[in-house]
Amino acid sequence: MSSAGLPDPGEGILNRRLSGLLGGKTADALRTKLGLSTVEDLLRHYPRRYAERGELTALGDFDEGEQVTVLGVVVKVETRPMRQRRGTILEATISDGVEDMRLTFFNQKWREKQLTPGRRGLFGGQVSRYRGRLQLAHPEFEMLPDGAPEDDLAALEFAGALIPIYPAVRGITSWQISQAIDLVLAQIGDLPDPLPVDVRSEHGLVGLTDALWGIHRPSSREALDAAVDRLRFEEAFVLQVLLAQRRAETRALTATRRAPETSPLVDAFDARLPFTLTDGQMAVSEQIADDLAAGHPMHRLLQGDVGSGKTVVALRAMLRVVDAGGQAALLAPTEVLAAQHHRSVTGMLGPLAEQGLLGGSEIGTRVALLTGSQRTADRRRALLEVTTGEAGIVVGTHALLQEHVEFDDLALVVVDEQHRFGVEQRAALAEKSRAGTRPHVLVMTATPIPRTVAMTIFGDVDVSTLEEVPSGRAGVTTHIVVPSERPALADRTWQRVREEVEEGHRVFVVCPRIGGADADEEQALLPNDAEDEPQRAAAVLDVARTLADGPLAGLRVGILHGRMSPEEKDDAMRRFADVSAPDGLDVLVSTTVIEVGVDVPDATMMVIMDADRFGISQLHQLRGRVGRGSLPGLCLLVTEAPQGSPARERLAAVASTTGGFRLSDMDLELRREGDVLGSSQSGHRRTLRLLEVAQHEDVIHAARHDAHELVERDPALADHPVLAAAVLALVQDDQAEYLEKA
Ligand code: ADP
Ligand code: MG
Repeated sequence: MSSAGLPDPGEGILNRRLSGLLGGKTADALRTKLGLSTVEDLLRHYPRRYAERGELTALGDFDEGEQVTVLGVVVKVETRPMRQRRGTILEATISDGVEDMRLTFFNQKWREKQLTPGRRGLFGGQVSRYRGRLQLAHPEFEMLPDGAPEDDLAALEFAGALIPIYPAVRGITSWQISQAIDLVLAQIGDLPDPLPVDVRSEHGLVGLTDALWGIHRPSSREALDAAVDRLRFEEAFVLQVLLAQRRAETRALTATRRAPETSPLVDAFDARLPFTLTDGQMAVSEQIADDLAAGHPMHRLLQGDVGSGKTVVALRAMLRVVDAGGQAALLAPTEVLAAQHHRSVTGMLGPLAEQGLLGGSEIGTRVALLTGSQRTADRRRALLEVTTGEAGIVVGTHALLQEHVEFDDLALVVVDEQHRFGVEQRAALAEKSRAGTRPHVLVMTATPIPRTVAMTIFGDVDVSTLEEVPSGRAGVTTHIVVPSERPALADRTWQRVREEVEEGHRVFVVCPRIGGADADEEQALLPNDAEDEPQRAAAVLDVARTLADGPLAGLRVGILHGRMSPEEKDDAMRRFADVSAPDGLDVLVSTTVIEVGVDVPDATMMVIMDADRFGISQLHQLRGRVGRGSLPGLCLLVTEAPQGSPARERLAAVASTTGGFRLSDMDLELRREGDVLGSSQSGHRRTLRLLEVAQHEDVIHAARHDAHELVERDPALADHPVLAAAVLALVQDDQAEYLEKA
């Protein structure tokens, strides 16, 4: 409050706390049940749907325990004494014209006067079952007025064609929310609008005040549509402005230009490759070379299906900065993958990675591996090579960024298998590079991100895609195996594994669990482990034992899982990769540890146990481990998920196509939006209420275009204070969720 006792204009009505405007009890309920504390929170709590006046909501469409709000006509009311104890019970029957439902109240005979037959009302509460029938006990309700006197606020609300129904939860009903909204709407006056006037007029969008009235108290379908269009655009726009600003900030940062006059290492590497690069690989390499030559840090996402050849592209970029005198770091999500990357990078480079050693190339460099678990002496040697700059390429886990590793001249960071390399992480890199500059960043992912999601979440990132998979790859065939439906097929599965091994090929068996000690804890962490699924998912330790003793007796069966030490894991991978070694493995039973990046060219078959426990993209990733060489791959998805269940649909989708991009679209269709933007990938869930990335590509496009224009003209949003505040709120929301997760 200002000294004059008036509301501080800087604060604004939208930021006022509800507790000052509504009854304490209501404000409390809104805050504790729905997390709504300010006027804006409440006004952004949009109706879930609208009941049309005259249209009755189906009463038969819900189950016991559900929290519902229904619209119905009272057909019958009666009060009788209770049998077992003193008091009366009032029973009313309401109807939607098709189904009936019973309402019960104890000792409230007086309500008979409110619940007069023929009157229409909104009823809300938790559905319970009594003597086999669904009912609402002590529902909250509000009768709709028959004739609507113009000056009665409640009447006005219901005289409209559309009655808003709010997402309600236990402890607060739709119309308690509705009443609170009425009180608040009455006080908002004319609100400042975060959308600039020219943007609004260009797209024919209504102002914020009209939009909020329109979404909460629509006078017509048209008014509602106009409100939704406007609020949806606003969501897209504010987010895109934030992303445009971040992009502009990145462009304002300086990075050392890495543009070598000649590139002997890259040339020598290309000459060593046993294949020619695809057009896609060449094109992306050139984009990256341009980025590296610019004076601001690159932030590029390289996406491409498993096996599309991203690693080669990344390696060429790394060699390019080494040619320019800098260093590159390659970060993998796990130690197993870091070790494997180190092996394959040194393998691909051959003598080029042995500079200073006997037989090493003059123009070459060194590749250092840095992991938390390596021997002290090894680590010390690696650190020294990194600090002196002798090692042009450093391979490690993401932890490398947090550790006190000093680079001589870190030019490029390549992040493997990660979706989001956030602003904070990029900022942390500043310390690793030379004063005042940032290293360039290339993020690689094999989990294709639908274009709209990329635009929404990664709007501050440049995206390159490797569309084609190098030719000569045989690919994978996928089948679903349901042992209880066709037991013979299950037996055939293990027979087939034997045949593959006899051909000299390798087989993965993937299980959702590890088993053994800590099994219960681990079980509790499984996402799909619903209460109605008491059987345990297949476990590595059990399955490995059962197979080795039974159907795969005589084969060399090894295990790999997250509870093994890094050395053990590495050892298991090495034995599996090297079948000719005396301790080589034919079959590797593992958890999803093998999910990303693992490259064993003559692994030809994968059996995924309880495949329904995995998501679409995870299955796609897993199966990408086979069929990588010239040998065709076979992937069997073993499941007991019933025909027609969502889990079975997911499996059918995975079996029907090997196109990662097609699958990620299907995934998007099968999942709810919130999951895509939700906890795992971004904190924008609460922000995006009306915008659905799968559906509103055109809105996102338009918003992005306008946002870029605006940020170009007014980077700090100095002329757009209301918009600036909205962007700030978004950042804070994002950070709050980031913190909640951490
Ligand atoms: P990704 O990292 O995208 O999954 P990789 O870079 O690991 O894919 O490549 C998968 C396999 O394909 C590797 O064995 C790699 O040597 C090979 N490869 C890469 N590019 C080509 C190409 N242009 N032609 C043939 N094989 C290729
Ligand atoms: Mg890879």
